[in-house]
Amino acid sequence: MGIVVQKYGGSSVATAEHIKAVAERVRKAREAGHGLVVVVSAMGKTTDRLLALANEVSSEPSPREIDQLLSTGERQSVALLAMALHDRGVAATSLTGPQAGMETSGRYGSGVISTIRTERMKKLLDEGQVVIVAGFQGMNAVGDVVTLGRGGSDTTAVALAAALYAERCEIYTDVTGVFTADPRIVPSARRIPLISPAEMAEMAWRGAKVMHPRAVELGALYGVEIHVRSSFSEEPGTVIREGSNLERLETRETLAGIVHDLDVSRITLTGIRTGPGTMSRVFTPLAESGVSVDVIVESAPKEGASDIAFTVGRGDYRDALRLAGEVAGSLGGEVEGEEELGKVSVVGTGMLNRPGYAARMFASLGKAGIPIRMVSTSEIQVTCVLPAERVEEAVRILHEDFELEGMEERDV
Ligand code: ADP
Ligand code: ASP
Ligand code: MG
Repeated sequence: MGIVVQKYGGSSVATAEHIKAVAERVRKAREAGHGLVVVVSAMGKTTDRLLALANEVSSEPSPREIDQLLSTGERQSVALLAMALHDRGVAATSLTGPQAGMETSGRYGSGVISTIRTERMKKLLDEGQVVIVAGFQGMNAVGDVVTLGRGGSDTTAVALAAALYAERCEIYTDVTGVFTADPRIVPSARRIPLISPAEMAEMAWRGAKVMHPRAVELGALYGVEIHVRSSFSEEPGTVIREGSNLERLETRETLAGIVHDLDVSRITLTGIRTGPGTMSRVFTPLAESGVSVDVIVESAPKEGASDIAFTVGRGDYRDALRLAGEVAGSLGGEVEGEEELGKVSVVGTGMLNRPGYAARMFASLGKAGIPIRMVSTSEIQVTCVLPAERVEEAVRILHEDFELEGMEERDV
C-alpha cells in the first residue's frame, strides 16, 4: 500500500484530549496498512499567543527571532502526538521541519519550500514508523528555521505528499469539507463533494481559509489529490481534483461558492500626475517592502491627473499608506486610506462567458443597500470590496440569491 499524508490543523490538536483522539485516528490508518506521514499544526491559538508575546517584549521583534519562536508551536505538537502514539503501541518519530529535510528560500516569515530531502523520512517509513512532521517550517541556506507564513502547514503537507509520491493528502480540520460559503456564517451552506483545483485555489485566494491557496496550487502542479475532512467525524468531506463528468460539458453548473475576506484595507492616491511609468513608481516601492497588493483600479485621466486605488491586507496598511503617501506627494497628489474593509467574491468557472453573474451580484448588493467600493473580475470570479461590517450580510444574501443552498450536488 502507498503513502498517505495526513495534516491536522490547530483546532484538531487544541488540547491533550484532542491529541489523543488524533493518535487514535492515526493508529487506525496505520492498521489499515498505509505508510503514514502526519503533519501537525501548533495547538489551538498557540501561534497567535506566541506572536502576542513577541510584541509584548519588543516594539519591533526581529523576523528571524519571530520564526525561531513561532516554530516552537509546531514542535510541541509533533512531540506530543508521537508520545500519544507510543502509548498506543504505534512506532512513531517526530521531526521538526529542518529534521524532515524541508529546505526553504525567501524571507523569514514567508519562506517558500525549495527542496525536500526525503531520505530520513523514507528510512523511517521503511522501518514501519509513522513519521510526524512539524508543519509551517523549514531551514534556509544558513541553517536558520524559517516559517512559511500563516496557515502554512497545509503547504507543508501537500509538498510532502508531492515529494513522497503519496497516494493522497488528507487535510483534517474543524469542518466536514469545503462548503458553498463559510458554514459559520451561512449555516445552510452545502458541502461540495468534488471541486477542481482551479476553483479551490480561487476560493482559497479569495479568503476561504479552510485550505491555504499555496497548498492548493502546489497540489495542482504536482497532481496531488487532496481530501478535506473533519477530524471530529467520519463524514466523506471534499475531494480536490479535476472532474471527469463528460456528459454536461459546457452546460454544467458553474458556480462553486461565495467567499469572503475581512483582511482588506484600501489606499487611494488622488489627483496624481499620470503618464508612462506612473504605475511602476507607485507599486515598485510596495513590492520592495514585501507588501502584496490585490485589487487595483485606476480612474481615467482628467487634465493629466488621475486616481489610483488598491487594496492590501490590514497588516500592511500602515506601511502601504506611508509608501503611497510619499509617491503621491512627489506626483502632486494626496493619499487617503480606509482600513476596515472586506471582500466578497462569487467564484466559479466560466464567469466571462456568462456576464449575468456580475450584474446579478451588483443587483443583490444594491437591493440590500450595501455599498460597493471596488470591483474586480476574471474568468473565475467577481469580487466586490465592501465596508467590513456589511460583509457577513452580503455573504448570506448572495448565497441565497444565487440559490446555492437548494442546488443539487454539482458536477465538476
Ligand atoms: P485549521 O486550523 O484546521 O487549519 P482553519 O481555521 O485554517 O483550520 O480553516 C477551517 C475554517 O475555515 C473553518 O472553521 C471555517 O470557518 C473556515 N471556512 C471559510 N470558508 C469556508 C468554506 N467555504 N468551507 C469550509 N470552511 C470554510
Ligand atoms: N500554526 C501556524 C498558524 O497558525 C501554521 C498553521 O496552522 O498552518 O498560522
Ligand atoms: Mg488552516
